[in-house]
Amino acid sequence: MINLEGKNALITGASRGIGRSIALLFAEYGCNIAFTYINEDQEAADITAELQAKGVRVLCIKSDAANFAAAHEVVKQVVDAFSKIDILVCNAGITHDTLLMRMTEEQWDDVLNVNLKSVFNYCHAVTPQMVRQRSGSIIAMSSVVGIGGNAGQANYAASKAGIIGLIKTLSKELGGRNIRANAIAPGFILTDMTLALPEATRTEMIKIIPMHRYGETDEVAKVALFLASDLSSYVSGQVISVNGAMG
Ligand code: NAP
Repeated sequence: MINLEGKNALITGASRGIGRSIALLFAEYGCNIAFTYINEDQEAADITAELQAKGVRVLCIKSDAANFAAAHEVVKQVVDAFSKIDILVCNAGITHDTLLMRMTEEQWDDVLNVNLKSVFNYCHAVTPQMVRQRSGSIIAMSSVVGIGGNAGQANYAASKAGIIGLIKTLSKELGGRNIRANAIAPGFILTDMTLALPEATRTEMIKIIPMHRYGETDEVAKVALFLASDLSSYVSGQVISVNGAMG
């Protein structure tokens, strides 16, 4: 029922974690994958090889998602190589957690730029060609804390709440052109980002998750697959939580 053959996806931040799982799952369904990363050359090379082994076309680009001009250059490279982009997944993200009183301007700016401005950058770059082809699915990675806030994450929560406003607006601006835009709000998913938290914090988190476990990256990827595919052809402007009933 799901078929992404002949489709091309661009995913930001797919060298590790949730983005990596999304790339692998989309490729299972025949989707060609272009992806970006920023630091981890070896991880990016590994996932490139894994994707190529699935028989799809792969384009791996090292590029800072927070940089407006660089995002436009990435989109140009992908369109030159694949001729079109059907699915955009804005997934790249970082944390710099601390209480607002202690937060530096740099910590605020870095998180807002990588998490939120990047979504603007890529949507701005990719939508003209989606408008021309009169189709497209845009998916952005928000978070449970973008909906409910979280002590120690003012910058992160603001960036993830901003994504929701941006995506809902985009869905209204572009719905008439058959372009859908949705956000996913994961809860606590086990990746390098959450493994960086102290063990005690992680143990406490489990207690407040009604399903009493972390989510896996592929559980987020399956929702991204739904949003990327025709199964969600009338779903737009939504925020889908993947959080084990947390929040
Ligand atoms: P992760 O394991 O830390 O991976 C982050 C990915 O983003 C990596 O591929 C990284 O590339 C890339 N990246 C970081 N900064 C970038 C930049 N400036 N330009 C391009 N790529 C960049 O994170 P994750 O846990 O999978 O999170 C993925 C997304 O889900 C993020 O937006 C995060 O906020 C969101 N999210 C995660 C959770 C969770 O519990 N894990 C919950 C809610 C939302 P390198 O490998 O090169 O560093």
